[in-house]
Amino acid sequence: MLVDFRPEPFTNFQDEANRRAFEEALKNVGSQLGKEYPIVINGERIFTDKKITSVNPSKKDEIIGYTSKADQDLAEKAIHAAAEKFEEWKKVRPEQRARYLWKAAAIMRRRKHEFSAWLVHEAGKSWAEADADTAEAIDFLEFYGREMVRLSQPHPLTRLPGEDNEMYYIPLGVTVVIPPWNFPLAILTGMTSAAVVSGNTVVLKPASATTVIASKLMELMEEAGVPAGVINLLPGSGSEVGDFLVEHPLTRMISFTGSREVGLRINELAAKRSDQQKWIKRVIAEMGGKDTIIVDKEADLDLAAQNIMASAFGFSGQKCSACSRAVVLEEVYDEVLERVVEKTKQLKIGDVREPSTYTGPVIDESALNKILNYIEIGKNEGRLVLGGEKGSDDGYYVKPTIFADVDPKARIMQEEIFGPVVAFTKAKDFDHALEIANNTEYGLTGSVFSKNRANLEKARDEFHVGNLYFNRKCTGAIVGAHPFGGFNMSGTDSKAGGRDYLLLFTQAKAVSEVL
Ligand code: NAP
Ligand code: MG
Repeated sequence: MLVDFRPEPFTNFQDEANRRAFEEALKNVGSQLGKEYPIVINGERIFTDKKITSVNPSKKDEIIGYTSKADQDLAEKAIHAAAEKFEEWKKVRPEQRARYLWKAAAIMRRRKHEFSAWLVHEAGKSWAEADADTAEAIDFLEFYGREMVRLSQPHPLTRLPGEDNEMYYIPLGVTVVIPPWNFPLAILTGMTSAAVVSGNTVVLKPASATTVIASKLMELMEEAGVPAGVINLLPGSGSEVGDFLVEHPLTRMISFTGSREVGLRINELAAKRSDQQKWIKRVIAEMGGKDTIIVDKEADLDLAAQNIMASAFGFSGQKCSACSRAVVLEEVYDEVLERVVEKTKQLKIGDVREPSTYTGPVIDESALNKILNYIEIGKNEGRLVLGGEKGSDDGYYVKPTIFADVDPKARIMQEEIFGPVVAFTKAKDFDHALEIANNTEYGLTGSVFSKNRANLEKARDEFHVGNLYFNRKCTGAIVGAHPFGGFNMSGTDSKAGGRDYLLLFTQAKAVSEVL
């Protein structure tokens, strides 16, 4: 018997021994940079001439690794490998499939700092952010393993006299998994392991910015004994192989997490039947956010300021759940703004290998340019109170940026920036604050800081987001405790890390026999 699911604790870096162990892991990973990583199809390691070059966003002249890049022929090969393997894998008992995940979790736990150190190098995550990413990956493995065992138990049905009725959940088929780069281990692991434990086979197309971490997970899954062909790793560009995988007639399901633009495209392409396609493709598309923190006039203002700062500038605002809008009641607006500015001034920006760095780089040059462009737009839409420019050119740095007095309909209040930029706006009362909070096309996360019970109850009903938090930050969902996914243009609300999630990777079969 397994112990019940418990989230993996975060590492306490105040502890000297932990600090030293992490430094050791950073050194160890630092000595392994610049290697080549293959495509893996049906266990075969394939090296191509075309490579994806992964760089360290903290120090852009440092190369993390080179990954072979798939073309459409290899994508075709990967789909066929997954389709063939599915015929075997779907017959493996659910508990056996779960055990691969638990084994993978155990290996990852033993090598926790090593995985986190790769995240520091390849994704530009600070120590604490990298540690949380790895912990979440472990959580997904532990949790989905248990969930599959639960889902395989007899399903309650109304029993008719003289009939034997049952219903059970069977897998779908070849699942194309397309994760983003911003939780390059956690989301990648969660999406892949959910598909696999449910009995599907996977073609995994990792995000191009973080292919080395994807290769590390692939190695770990092989070490855990997941049979060849169950997971096929296919690094490649979204535009070159993404559409091809989505449109392929043997693709049964697409599990996507990323931007609104790409999610909508996948949804549209997947809806179109291709020649010889026998099913309606299933699509999970978890997309962007424009997340709001409301501060009521009766609230712990310091707590609110601390959490706006953490939600906006942790991992440089590159979380779908990051706070990019602060809506503050006019009575306390100036004070909250001032406190957020004061706290943000204390943050150290720089190379995330340094333990004291809070805000690291953004992921790449195109992200840097996009964010700087939004900052220019913001300068015409509000009052710049902090930041507003890039940092050192050693990496892709943007200074934490705060705009005040921004119109709720302004572009920087409506469009996802995905960087360390937060816009403040004033609300005349709590209803007005809720109205502003709900005025985007997204609906992912949100927080309310208030001591007023009636207002909290009102927000419970009316603040239309998939993940609503009271008196805490709007980032940092924990597997099992905060099932994650958003409304409207934030996607299909699949609730990753929740007890409904695996249903999306299965179909129910009902069998009745007259006795
Ligand atoms: P992205 O640009 O949409 O890319 C996501 C994935 O889609 C990558 O693997 C990308 O590959 C691939 N892709 C690109 N074009 C494609 C196509 N035509 N067909 C199939 N796949 C294609 O998003 P991102 O920049 O990686 O991630 C940031 C976004 O993710 C933000 O909008 C954020 O809010 C969202 N996000 C949402 C959640 C959530 O749970 N709702 C969680 C995390 C992130 P390449 O890398 O090769 O382009
Ligand atoms: Mg991208």
